Amino acid sequence: MTQGINPWASNQSIDVGKLFSEFGIEPIEDVTGGLPTVPSFIRRGVVVGHRDYGLIAEAIREKKHFNVMTGFMPSGHPHLGHLMVMKEVAWHVAQGGTGYIGVADREAHAVRGLSWRQCKEYGREYLACLYALGYEGHTYYQSENTALKDLAFEAAIKINFSELSAIYGFSQETALAHAMSVATQVGDILYPQLDGGPAPTVVPVGIDQDPHIRLTRDVAHKLRLFTVEQREGYVSVRSKNAPEAAIDAVHAAYPGSKRYEGHVDIPGAALAEVEVRVRGIEIEHGGFGFFLPSATYHTFMPGLQGGKMSSSVPDSFISFWESDKDLKKKVMGALTGGRTTLEEQKKLGGEPEKCPVYLLNLFHMTPDDEELVEICRKCRDGELMCGTCKKETLERTKEFLKDFREKMDETAHLVEG
Ligand code: SF4
Repeated sequence: MTQGINPWASNQSIDVGKLFSEFGIEPIEDVTGGLPTVPSFIRRGVVVGHRDYGLIAEAIREKKHFNVMTGFMPSGHPHLGHLMVMKEVAWHVAQGGTGYIGVADREAHAVRGLSWRQCKEYGREYLACLYALGYEGHTYYQSENTALKDLAFEAAIKINFSELSAIYGFSQETALAHAMSVATQVGDILYPQLDGGPAPTVVPVGIDQDPHIRLTRDVAHKLRLFTVEQREGYVSVRSKNAPEAAIDAVHAAYPGSKRYEGHVDIPGAALAEVEVRVRGIEIEHGGFGFFLPSATYHTFMPGLQGGKMSSSVPDSFISFWESDKDLKKKVMGALTGGRTTLEEQKKLGGEPEKCPVYLLNLFHMTPDDEELVEICRKCRDGELMCGTCKKETLERTKEFLKDFREKMDETAHLVEG
């Protein structure tokens, strides 16, 4: 990570250490060393953790098939708070990943009560933003994707209400459609592997979304016919519910293997090779053969007034269609990490890590690392005052939005429906 620009070093609103120790999320730096390029969202500490990203890093390095998938709930206009995940998706596609974007209209309709027409309109806006970032790949609306809905039904067989209450706090009053939208979301994450065959799939999410990832990994595991495990000197392929013919097929695929009731042991085999071959056999015999989905976890850009950037608090976010007048009002009126008086600020310096204006630059408005480090340094050393800093940030943001809207116009033809 570039020294001095980790925004979370001293103002961590989420206990990242706890995520690592209690939930098994691992630091992203552990697996990104061999990537041909490390994107700014990793260099700058915006993405902090991962599950199984090693598989994706390997696929990028070795130019193997992998997917990147995410969903957007079209419950309002997209804004800069959604941009990070869009950039992560576009970056993975540029690294050779096959892209999948699900517009979660079923969820917006079931959980937020939006009409189907509104879902469609907002969905188109999200897609317009993605195309402006250079996204190429699959897109779909949940309500129009029959294969997804069938997969969600299969997933729902493996989910019960006590899990939903434990994970999401569902109660007796929770609408059944809400539970269905959760199963649909699980289906979304697994859908790329149904569509294009088993392959590592990364889902870039905010760290608060980990429960969805854990649930989906659990369901993916349950939908598989076999588990493949490394033992001392052999690989064991086990199944509680695979048809006899599928177990026979594994046995036949490995001369010298030993077949038992419900499992096959393969002496001297390589785990990764067996994993891939067994997934093929699973699919032939009616299983799914999913790789458990990988995930990256990013922290959030705070709202301009502190707290979360939220569509329900207009002064907290910047829309992609913000007028210059409103943009000026929002940026110049933003909370900062500055001191109460100019004198104090000159003496003590500001606190960029607590400053929504600085973080707006770190997340999106200052792509050049050296320039960002310089803003950070000048702020800390009391050389930069908040008024000047805000004006400069306003100009960068204006420029960014102007370019972004131009790109949306150029790619508007890609948004169908
Ligand atoms: Fe934030 Fe800029 Fe003020 Fe520093 S000078 S606290 S970065 S607005």
